[in-house]
Parts: sequence; C-alpha cells; structure tokens
Amino acid sequence: MEHNKKRKIVIAIDGHSSCGKSTFAKAIAARLGYIFIDTGAMYRSVTLYALEHGAICNGIVNEDAVIALLDDITITFRFNPMRGASDIYVNGDLVEGKIRTIEVSNFVSAVSSIAQVREKLVAMQQQMGASRGVVMDGRDIGTVVFPDAELKIFMTAEPKVRAERRYAELTAKGDKVCFEEILENVISRDHADMNRAISPLRQAADAIVLDNSYMTVAEQMEWFDAQYERVLSTL
Ligand code: C5P
Repeated sequence: MEHNKKRKIVIAIDGHSSCGKSTFAKAIAARLGYIFIDTGAMYRSVTLYALEHGAICNGIVNEDAVIALLDDITITFRFNPMRGASDIYVNGDLVEGKIRTIEVSNFVSAVSSIAQVREKLVAMQQQMGASRGVVMDGRDIGTVVFPDAELKIFMTAEPKVRAERRYAELTAKGDKVCFEEILENVISRDHADMNRAISPLRQAADAIVLDNSYMTVAEQMEWFDAQYERVLSTL
C-alpha cells in the first residue's frame, strides 16, 4: 500500500454551484500535499475582467467583446500560506476578493458558455495538472479537462442548503445580500451550467456521487479517505 501512496493522481471534483467543492478540494489537497486548482475562480476572473472592461453592459454579455479581451488576460496563481490555498491574479492584480460577488455570479455562466473562453482556460488547466498531483474543482474536470482522472467525484447538495451556505459566507464578509436572490442564482446557474451547448455540467460515467447536504466537513473527509484508499489499491 505504501508504494502506491507515492503515486500522484488527478482528483477531479465536479458538481453543482455552492456545494462546498472548493472547501472539500482544498482540504484534500492539504492532506495529500497536492496542488489545489479552483477552476471556477478562473471563469470568475474572466467575468470580472469583462465587467471592468466594458464587455458586459446593461446586463448583456457581448460575446465578441469578451473574446477580443481574452489575449489581454493572463491568469496566475500564487500560494497564500495564510489561506492554505492559492490566490488568483489577473495581469498581476490580486482579484481573489473581487470575484465572488453576486454581480460576477450573475454573469459567470454566460461568460463560461463562450467556446473561446473555455478553450483558453481548459488548456491552462491541463497544463497545470500535467505532472498530476492535483485536486481540481469545477464543472467539466472529469468529463473534458481530465477524462483520465483516477478519482472523479460528483458533488451535490439540496439547493436550499447550498443557498444558506453561500448566504452565510457572504454575510460573514459583510456583504449585504438577499437570501432569495442567492437561492435564485444557485438554481439558475445550475440550470445554465447543465444546459449549455459546450461542456455542460454532467456526472462522468465513472464518477462517484457525494451528496453533502447533511454532512460535516469531517464526515466528508472520512468518506474521501475510503474512496482514495480504494482507488490507490486498484492502481
Ligand atoms: O465553482 P464556481 O461556482 O465558483 O464557478 C463559477 C461558474 O464558473 C459556474 O457557475 C460555471 O458557470 C463556471 N465554471 C465552468 N467550468 C468550470 C468551473 C466553473 O463553466 N470548470
């Protein structure tokens, strides 16, 4: 068993919005000494840049304008020991604190459905995981980015539970938010992510489901340990 532990694998975590994928992925990466990559943060960063550079006006995403901006966007990650995870930068600017607003959340599904946006970000993600030893969370990791991931997890939770978690997270930061608006965003993002033409959110045939509606983080980690051991024993 011990020799297997040295073998680095790719762990793909896909699933619905706001079900704790990043928290779970971050904890796994810390436990295994893997790199954690939050791909949602990458789509959010492109959305923020589009908002700040006039490619989203009066509630409408101008696809051609977003595509024209893509070459100007360089995304990098830098490990932040205080958070135990990497912060995301756009053209050298730290955007971590600006990408999780309700405004970005409202436009990110539209921006992420643009083929050229996905092409650019998927290529980056594949490069970041090329040496394996990564935990990547998103919507299409197990289906498109790393279809050969050794461990694929599909996470979900009841919409109301997910909205309550997102509400608590935003109000703790001091954001003035309305619960109904968050619930509506969670439901509409699920719908948009599952029904888009390119790389829709769907469970890979070989993914295992984790519904964490009523599970603590500790219980989820216990569940993960069993899955990880099972996968390693098959390699
Ligand atoms: O994970 P998070 O909720 O931060 O993701 C924000 C949005 O980015 C999703 O609702 C989805 O539209 C998009 N996304 C995606 N593919 C990924 C990760 C996120 O389309 N791999």
